[in-house]
Amino acid sequence: MRPFTYARAATVDEALGALRDPGTRLIACGTELVNWLKEGIETPARLVDITGLPLAGIDVSDDGGLRLGALARMSDVAAHPTVRDRFPVLAESLHRAASAQLRNMATIGGNLMQRTRCPYFRADVELPCNKRLPGSGCAALDGGDTSSHAIFGWSNDCAATFPSDLAVALAALDATVTAVGERGVRRIPATGFHRLPGTEPARHNELAPDELIVAVDVPAAPGASHYLKVRERASYEFAVVSAAVTLHAEDGVIGDARIALGGVAHRPWRLPAAEQALAGIALDDPAGLRAAVARSFTDARPLPGNKFKVELAQRAAVRALRTAGGVQ
Ligand SMILES: Cc1cc2nc3c(=O)[nH]c(=O)nc-3n(C[C@H](O)[C@H](O)[C@H](O)COP(=O)(O)OP(=O)(O)OC[C@H]3O[C@@H](n4cnc5c(N)ncnc54)[C@H](O)[C@@H]3O)c2cc1C
Ligand code: SF4
Repeated sequence: MRPFTYARAATVDEALGALRDPGTRLIACGTELVNWLKEGIETPARLVDITGLPLAGIDVSDDGGLRLGALARMSDVAAHPTVRDRFPVLAESLHRAASAQLRNMATIGGNLMQRTRCPYFRADVELPCNKRLPGSGCAALDGGDTSSHAIFGWSNDCAATFPSDLAVALAALDATVTAVGERGVRRIPATGFHRLPGTEPARHNELAPDELIVAVDVPAAPGASHYLKVRERASYEFAVVSAAVTLHAEDGVIGDARIALGGVAHRPWRLPAAEQALAGIALDDPAGLRAAVARSFTDARPLPGNKFKVELAQRAAVRALRTAGGVQ
């Protein structure tokens, strides 16, 4: 680990001022960043601690929407009574992430800013990885293990997936990330906050280097909702694939539904074609649900190691819809 200096920001303006120096990185609770320092993924000259900023609120607006402060802890949001009652998809996505110890520390903003778990990106020896060292190649696509990689939206430069559970729920909820920078406030839809790799895999998301996340806003009335996480062990494990769904149904028939998948792309992957096809389908019609969901898989491009994700992700989406609708 390289030496760095450490300071605490007392105000948002102080944190933004510190970001003018390109050698500065913000640190919230450090559950991700400290790993990157140890692994050499980040080598900042200066860390600025933002945990003293007044950004930890969890507020319910008059219309029933939510405002989650960027520094709200994952466990506090998951346990909030309104979140549990009206936004179960959100509570479940947080509750199934990481471990209890991590959730007690880690923040909402830090969760959205985490980076891929691609083993070549995280390796402690230098391996070809365009995300870590632009232009160095891609060890995964060049004959490596692609079992944890993308089936949608990948490029010839990178096929990594994004590991946050929360981000998948926020995409299904049509949430918005609010950022501030020296040029003012910017509201970024959660569906577009994370980038596809394209030719610039080293750019992980749309936050500019001089910006800070202050909050996440979740609109009211998502209807019934559920987060299904498929993983290799029952706790403390990242998703192989996951599905976040919200739906309004009457007499067991879907009026409208939204679906976002995790573990299949470099950002939460919404299924617009499936969402359109689901209107009018009964929740107790598994074949109808499956056919609707399949509409969004015609452009899936699995890699040699992850063909199983095409089937798994469709099954996860159907099961999440049925669970949200109270049908087993
Ligand atoms: C072993 C392990 C298992 C995990 N499992 C899961 C899992 O199953 N599912 C899941 O979703 N997550 C998982 N995580 C990720 C975990 O949720 C994140 O580590 C955590 O949310 C990061 O929050 P933090 O406050 O510690 O961020 P930090 O580590 O302090 O910061 C991480 C990054 O976010 C930036 N940042 C933090 N706050 C802001 C802000 N307000 N504005 C701009 N930038 C900011 C920092 O500059 C840094 O780049 C796991 C992590 C670990 C270590
Ligand atoms: S998939 Fe992306 S993160 Fe993984 S080795 Fe290739 S370039 Fe790096």
